[in-house]
Amino acid sequence: SGQVHVVGAGLAGSEVVWQLVKRGHRVILHEQKKLKKSPVHHSELFAELVCSNSLKSMEIENAEGLLKKEMELFESLILSCAYETRVPAGKALAVDRERFSECVTRRLLETGLLEVVWEEVEKPGDEGIWVIATGPTTEGKLADWIVERTGGMLSFFDAVAPIISAESINMNVCFVADRYGVGSGDYINCPMNREQYERFWEAIVSAEVIEMKDFDRKLLFERCQPIEEIARSGKDAMRYGPLRPVGIIDPRTGKEPYAVVQLRRENIEGTMYNLVGFQTRLKWNEQKRIVRMIPGLENAEILRYGVMHRNTYIQSPKVLDPFLRLKTDARIFFAGQIVGVEGYVESAMTGIYVGLNVARILEGREPVRFPEFTMSGALIKYVTTAEELKPMYANFGLLGGGKKRKETAARALTCMEEFVKNLDR
Ligand code: FAD
Repeated sequence: SGQVHVVGAGLAGSEVVWQLVKRGHRVILHEQKKLKKSPVHHSELFAELVCSNSLKSMEIENAEGLLKKEMELFESLILSCAYETRVPAGKALAVDRERFSECVTRRLLETGLLEVVWEEVEKPGDEGIWVIATGPTTEGKLADWIVERTGGMLSFFDAVAPIISAESINMNVCFVADRYGVGSGDYINCPMNREQYERFWEAIVSAEVIEMKDFDRKLLFERCQPIEEIARSGKDAMRYGPLRPVGIIDPRTGKEPYAVVQLRRENIEGTMYNLVGFQTRLKWNEQKRIVRMIPGLENAEILRYGVMHRNTYIQSPKVLDPFLRLKTDARIFFAGQIVGVEGYVESAMTGIYVGLNVARILEGREPVRFPEFTMSGALIKYVTTAEELKPMYANFGLLGGGKKRKETAARALTCMEEFVKNLDR
């Protein structure tokens, strides 16, 4: 039958459903959260952001910004809700996590075309079209089924940063400022002098981490290195990484501090802040001790501790066709991080692609490929053709690199506009 089932209401699954319901199709959405949550999921709402509350840059000369502009042409639900629940964060699109997920959940449910089944899916059914969008923490029977059908999954490790309460920040020590003064006072900064930095560094490199079975340092994702791993690579590494003070002036001294820990607003009310770049797998009592060594955070109240988790994805180039369907069974699609893209926005983009094509199939039309010369098209092409698939985020290298980003971006956007215009012809 033509019934569509989507498994997983994450960033990708929500977007798949949206693209379908917005074209008038009914969808059955299977989600396990009310019964079971992965170690990184906490809420029962759809489209939960598991780590940072930032959806990254908005600028078109930035690959993430271009990706967003392309997705807007498809009326992306993830972006629409992100704009609606935005919190100030300079040039980045950061959101109030809770309101963002509430928005996605409400907008999907109010279409009346969605049936939600709260269950842990163990394998796709024998009829209908199934979209597996269970994310990088897919486990249990479904993971076994996927491994069996795809010849094994690949993985790497990713970590989450802690969140603290605003009222526990000592503003007699910390100060509000944006790097190079760009922004409207969106970040709180905790300044460190040399001595404080060195003590902090020593504490981090000697702190206890949570042991994980089959943890392998080589499998750490480059963009999400835990702070203790960065610290271990050298005494100054944090100062050149997440703690870099460049362009941040302490109003009390008129100078750049030796190092700075930045806090980014977590919700619209500004009652919660996250520690920027502080992904970690330190033991929880150690996290508390170390966070409280940061000047101004002596009494920090940790609302959510950092954690680390295995991140899995399938060998898409071997097992998926260009439309992200199993080569061996065209009823079964995959979407989201599990196909080998990396990031919230990237995951949502694959949801748009799959949702659009499933809708076309239901309407008796041929599925279509995104133009290769768009950020979205290039990402899909990469994950379905790479010789050795590595989790991939949006970047201009996929579009041939080069210095002329503005022109490349403009061309990509024109391509996607044309594509969208021709869709219904
Ligand atoms: P998810 O958003 O994880 O959604 C999957 C959904 O499927 C969940 O709701 C889950 O409950 C449900 N589900 C799973 N199994 C089943 C089942 N068997 N039956 C029914 N439902 C099921 N990206 C960033 O851009 N920034 C970050 O800071 C960031 N940090 C990350 C930190 C960690 C620890 C991890 C693991 C990933 C991180 N990512 C980050 C990567 C990625 O962007 C997110 O994981 C993103 O949520 C992926 O979207 P998704 O839709 O593929 O999966």
